[in-house]
Amino acid sequence: MTNVILKDVRKSYGPLEVIHGIDLEIKSGEFVVFVGPSGCGKSTLLRMVAGLEHISGGQVAIDDKVVNDVPSPQRGIAMVFQSYALYPHMTVYDNMAFGLKLAKRPKEQIDRRVREVAKILQIEDYLERMPRALSGGQRQRVAIGRALVRNPKVFLFDEPLSNLDAALRAQTRIEIAKLHSQLDATMIYVTHDQVEAMTLADKIVVLNAGRIEQVGSPLELYRNPVNTFVAGFIASPK
Ligand code: ADP
Ligand code: MG
Repeated sequence: MTNVILKDVRKSYGPLEVIHGIDLEIKSGEFVVFVGPSGCGKSTLLRMVAGLEHISGGQVAIDDKVVNDVPSPQRGIAMVFQSYALYPHMTVYDNMAFGLKLAKRPKEQIDRRVREVAKILQIEDYLERMPRALSGGQRQRVAIGRALVRNPKVFLFDEPLSNLDAALRAQTRIEIAKLHSQLDATMIYVTHDQVEAMTLADKIVVLNAGRIEQVGSPLELYRNPVNTFVAGFIASPK
């Protein structure tokens, strides 16, 4: 299990600073949810942890090791985006196997792992289909599966459910929660959906214009929001 520590993390695009010094400690196995309005920097922060975006200032550490200069594939993280970003010309099986093939894993090992993960996500029956022959929810499960096969230490989700309809969103949300308890993985999850935040999070980070407004458990934020901005992002707990 793996922690993620941000120290005075900053991001500038040209002369414009959009992330203004974020300090945050995410413990091993914790499920942390970032919430905040559109444009507040949620995706940028996640992308810096993932290594998809250069870090302009401060440090990101994974597993107590500073990773600012470590390329994304070597960070031991997996990222699931809002758009499924599956390879359209490959079957579900090949989509899921792709990362393992790149890593030159033996064929039998790849096969075992893909089938094992497909079973967990209940997509065994779709392995030979092309992505276009799947529903949105099935595609998103394949995207999660593709991340899962590599056995990442840290999962990053950027609004993974926002393209799904309400029923499927609820179902997939429950599956992600299950996955978290099964895997004991560290998860950082971006959403603007209050219900997702309140039901999934061990800890919620409320962001506003590139700064942290408040960090706390769903109940702490519900009971003691530091200001009306935070209160506006917190729904009633279950
Ligand atoms: P969120 O995910 O919370 O909606 P983002 O992280 O996408 O917010 O964006 C944070 C800020 O950074 C926004 O003001 C956005 O316009 C700006 N931004 C994001 N990506 C770029 C980019 N590639 N170039 C310039 N500005 C960007
Ligand atoms: Mg975003």
